[in-house]
Amino acid sequence: MEIAADRVVLIHYTLKDDNGAIIDSSAGGEPLAYIQGHGNLVAGLEKALEGKQDGSTVAVSVPPADGYGKHDAALIQRVPKRSMQGSGEIKKGMQFQARTDDGMRLFTVTAVVGDMVTLDGNHPLADKTLHFDVEVVSVRDATTEELEHGHVHGVGGHHH
Ligand SMILES: [Zn+2]
Repeated sequence: MEIAADRVVLIHYTLKDDNGAIIDSSAGGEPLAYIQGHGNLVAGLEKALEGKQDGSTVAVSVPPADGYGKHDAALIQRVPKRSMQGSGEIKKGMQFQARTDDGMRLFTVTAVVGDMVTLDGNHPLADKTLHFDVEVVSVRDATTEELEHGHVHGVGGHHH
């Protein structure tokens, strides 16, 4: 079966940067399960996988525009600690979901100086070209329930 919208796809993947260093990989663990056509993967990878058969391997380099976007200086903000009440002690490296004009976005604390906290809403992989090696493990139709929930059930997915 080939990869198409509303199909559940299991992949093993390795993601490398421009220097060939491994950023992330599913090797040695469960494959990643996702539903094609629902924006579960970065756009460039989903595009490269469309139409591929189970058992095939795909190598693709995804530019930032189809990956995690360009670095945007406007997404770096300094806010007073007191505006982040209820978050407990604020430390560098912590991440928070916050509402922005473009919807929910993940912010990372990049500095805490005195009473001021620096938040960066850029994805850690913004501006990076993503080099993926993918093995398509299996492809099947999603169930109605999976499409309603927007995620995969069973192997590699949610158990509930
Ligand atoms: Zn579910």
